[in-house]
Amino acid sequence: MAEQEASGLQVLLSTLQSSHDKDVILNILSVLTDLLSLGTGRRIHYVISKGGSEALLQALTAAAHTEPPDHSTLLPLLRLLARVGQRDRKFGLKVQKAEATDIILSLARRSLGYHLLLTHCLWVLRVCASNVTSGATLGVNGAMELLFKVITPYSKRHVRTVRAAIEALAALLKSKSNSRRAVTRGYLDGLLRLYQDWHHNDVSNNYIYIRRGLLLCLKHITNVQLGRETFLGCRGMDILFTTVQDCLSCKNLDPIITIATQILRKCYPKEPLPVPTARSFYCFPLPGNAKAESPCEGSEGDYESDGDEEAEKNLDNEDAESKEEDYDLETDVNKLRSRPVLDRPEGELGQYEAMCPELAHNFQEIESESEKEKTLEDRTESLPSAPSHFIPSAVSVKHPNCRWRNQSLTEMGPDPGQKDFQVPLQSWTKEEESRWDQTDEKRDIAETARDADSCEEEDPARSHMLTLRPLPKDAAWYKKVFCSECEAAINSYPGGRLESSDTVTNLLEKHQGDIPFHSPLFYITRAKCVKSIPNYKDLAFPDFWGHQPPPFSKPMLERKYGVQRDKVLDDVRRLIQPDDVIGRTVFDLDEPSHSSPAAPGCLTFFSKFESGNLRKAIQVREFEYDLIMNADVNSNQHHQWFYFEVRDMKLAVPYRFNIINCEKLNSQFNYGMQLVMYSVKEALQGRPRWLRAGHDICYYKNHYHCGAAAGGGVRGKCYYTLTFSIKFPHKDDVCYLAYHYPYTYSTMMSHLDILEQNRNPKKVYWRQQTLCQTLGGNPCPLLTITAMPDSKKRDDLEQFCNRPYVFLMARVHPGESNASWVMKGTLEFLVSSDPIADLLRKCFIFKIIPMLNPDGVINGNHRCSLSGDDLNRQWLTPSSQLHPTIYHAKGLLCYLRSIGRAPLVFCDYHGHSQKKNVFLYGCSIKETLWQAGCTVDTAVITEDVGYRTLPKILDKVAPAFVMNSCSFLVEKSRESTARVVVWKEVGVLRSYTMESTYCGCTHGLYKGLQLGTQELEEMGSKFCLGLLILHLKSLPCSKEVMAQAALLLDLEEEITDRTQRSCSNSCLETDDEPPCVEELDYDTDSCSDGEGDFSELDQEIQECLSWVEGQTEDEGATMGQTCSSKALRGLYMSSQPGSKSTALPLSPTALGVYSGFESSPA
Ligand SMILES: [Zn+2]
Repeated sequence: MAEQEASGLQVLLSTLQSSHDKDVILNILSVLTDLLSLGTGRRIHYVISKGGSEALLQALTAAAHTEPPDHSTLLPLLRLLARVGQRDRKFGLKVQKAEATDIILSLARRSLGYHLLLTHCLWVLRVCASNVTSGATLGVNGAMELLFKVITPYSKRHVRTVRAAIEALAALLKSKSNSRRAVTRGYLDGLLRLYQDWHHNDVSNNYIYIRRGLLLCLKHITNVQLGRETFLGCRGMDILFTTVQDCLSCKNLDPIITIATQILRKCYPKEPLPVPTARSFYCFPLPGNAKAESPCEGSEGDYESDGDEEAEKNLDNEDAESKEEDYDLETDVNKLRSRPVLDRPEGELGQYEAMCPELAHNFQEIESESEKEKTLEDRTESLPSAPSHFIPSAVSVKHPNCRWRNQSLTEMGPDPGQKDFQVPLQSWTKEEESRWDQTDEKRDIAETARDADSCEEEDPARSHMLTLRPLPKDAAWYKKVFCSECEAAINSYPGGRLESSDTVTNLLEKHQGDIPFHSPLFYITRAKCVKSIPNYKDLAFPDFWGHQPPPFSKPMLERKYGVQRDKVLDDVRRLIQPDDVIGRTVFDLDEPSHSSPAAPGCLTFFSKFESGNLRKAIQVREFEYDLIMNADVNSNQHHQWFYFEVRDMKLAVPYRFNIINCEKLNSQFNYGMQLVMYSVKEALQGRPRWLRAGHDICYYKNHYHCGAAAGGGVRGKCYYTLTFSIKFPHKDDVCYLAYHYPYTYSTMMSHLDILEQNRNPKKVYWRQQTLCQTLGGNPCPLLTITAMPDSKKRDDLEQFCNRPYVFLMARVHPGESNASWVMKGTLEFLVSSDPIADLLRKCFIFKIIPMLNPDGVINGNHRCSLSGDDLNRQWLTPSSQLHPTIYHAKGLLCYLRSIGRAPLVFCDYHGHSQKKNVFLYGCSIKETLWQAGCTVDTAVITEDVGYRTLPKILDKVAPAFVMNSCSFLVEKSRESTARVVVWKEVGVLRSYTMESTYCGCTHGLYKGLQLGTQELEEMGSKFCLGLLILHLKSLPCSKEVMAQAALLLDLEEEITDRTQRSCSNSCLETDDEPPCVEELDYDTDSCSDGEGDFSELDQEIQECLSWVEGQTEDEGATMGQTCSSKALRGLYMSSQPGSKSTALPLSPTALGVYSGFESSPA
């Protein structure tokens, strides 16, 4: 905007404030109107910045005192005030300063007989009321009483005025003090009656905006407790529920249904969760009684805060949220700088020398190593049906998987594909099994064997008690496998369950599963050794039998229109029409007697197996169940992960499940994510796989809260419902449902066994050690993987142990099973015979902790360890007693640093529940300071930008990876995470957290698809490829390596190009999801009802003007829909040269045309 214009505007405004000449004022108003009618809201903001609001208010003060009111001045003035005021964040303050509330109010009172002026007053009143402070003042001074005089029962007369009054009232009721005042004066009942009246009489839906406005009033009024109680007392639930039923069939009525649904949900009487306590059913006595009671942290929770008059948020701080984010950034340069501080006596680091056997490179050892390998090799070769005992390159990085482009999806159909990757490792028959047993005895890899055997020695009884969950009764194979005698034997078995070895043996005879890198027997062997708090006696079938990725990945679920609304109304129906509500508890950890054989026609639930965590199931209606997840051990929160078994289902019936104690404010389940399901019958028919499943999925706040009586919980904490419907593929099947593809501790341990035994020992150096025992007594494995030295020559041995380190970890958060699948991909690639892997092994020594929180995974936790702590918030000062895996992982890293061998790359694999795609979080001083807007001279701080190289590479080579989603900011709240501590204290420049979505991708090859295990594993292998390229780019390489790389990566260039091409549109913003597709906000402080929408009032003003132009009010029945064609025609005509060529129009009508022009629909 030019300087001249600026000064011109200032002259206009100051003249407006000082002049008493009516013509001058009218002229200025018309110029202002003209000015603001063009362009966008930016002009209005400009006028505001130059003191426009103040000038208009002062002019109003002067004009309002004229007697009788001078309409020709007041009308344009009020219109300008309404338009400017709603965009002026400090308007409330300015109104107070000008003492204008009383003026507007008394002007409105005096205009009661003049509907046009009154309507104008009400617009300004509404704008003033939107500000909390002036709204409260208006309330005290009788604004609501005035409005109630204007708001009438159904009538076709003066609907514009009625509408303006209702909307002003709604704005006033945002103030809680006004809401309370309204309730005590009996207005709530009045509003309900008015709403009913308009609802019944407006049969042609001409006055949707009036009905919606009345609902908005009710919505705000019920934000206070007194309002909700009164609403219930006035039969509000019944009335709204019934009227909504009339509206459901008409899509035009959405604005009404949405708000009514919100009110219904909000007023649904609060109930405590139906559990005796929010604390986990399982507790674990901590060593040394370190923490009897874990503190109630609730960083991400949502809390009810109504009931008392709290300081209401000032709209002036609209961008508080983004500020908060920035406040979290670390701005202390000293804290950002690397500082090698030890959290323990230096002498303690010596113990970690033993965890680096690769550095003690004496000849003997490596020789004996190869000796050992030989025996191993023999054995591997003796394994049946293992045509290649070298691991194939599992998800070959050289062949980008194109099958995913094929969109023809068959959920349960047979597998057409599976061409690549057909290397069955084992196929089991009875005879072979015994051979296996022999070899098993020969197992001589020290740790694994010791681990596996020791637990059986310790507790022989226990290992025999582990049984497979009973199978579907009518499975076709069942009768073949189990003859009647067998069945008798089974039934007479003391435990009443199938004894594992028989079942397993018989089952495995039928196992067509050639599931790569999975062996049911290895799984059982490992599972027997697991120490769990519930002392598991059952194996979940999917973990035992294995999972094979489906041939096609599934697109993200398209959200059904109005699904949340329908579900919420269905929930409310429990209260209004309780006839079909059963309310029977069918599974209950707290009251196990309820879990006994279920009532006929009722599903049977179970989850007492590794990673299972169902606490309670309640049959609500015939085909609907409420489910409650158990909290993390020694905690009262972190409900997100779920994994349970369900059986006795009917065919082709959609069952609705509601997980009613979720805590996150929002979920990817609102954005296309599905849960996963595994059907035992499908598996036995040759399709053993977890599939994305469920429809009508949504996630919303419910009426349960953490009551004081529940103890241990945070009082007033709100819960959310995840609801989904499932049609099971078979009758009387046994199915498993989970939040995400399960990956148990036993899965991981048996996977390591298989990798170890199937690698090429001549090429792959592999050491599996135990980092430490967990609190629960489970070993936490530590792997060392690199290439065997080329020869025993000195040079080769030196090269061998001088390779830089890469340190990888996963699964510190037990609910993030996706991280384990990514790790699986990494491990399989690292030990594979792929030439790239071969080269990579020659470049690095990999130290890998594949599961940092075994106890959490085993016991079905989502976030914590047995101590109830988030282990990824303990890295600053981990306790050797409470957080042993973190303490020792950090110790090992510190040891490496102390010998000058800090890793080149550190990466901790995680899962992200709010975002799509895969991305990295890293650490950068400069980016953090810039983002925080710090005045520190960043030019002085030198920073190696090498931390950006790896993510840039991954963006090119990994289809699921998106550079735009990466962030390199160091937040204060993350100062105790592995990423930040390893960066700061161990001095690793490339210290990352890798986040993989639970949902799907928005970019590239997998755009629009949900990720499956195959894509996650691929990410793990592509990460390895990225490391190799990083090495070539960043480190000096031997000629030999370069030559080999050149040979191999030529191929890669091509892939890179191809990937780039397919991702070329990957420049989109990658923000978090918007708050929600449908508003799920039932918060008391919610303002998200579209009232803040400027265009609405603008349109109202404009419509009114077109009406002034000669129509009668009674004809304006299309109000609230769109600008009528007549109005448009009027606009068009007045913008014709004829009318424009004259001097500035002075009549209010013409002025209005200008102001209306801006917001007319294009
Ligand atoms: Zn995590």
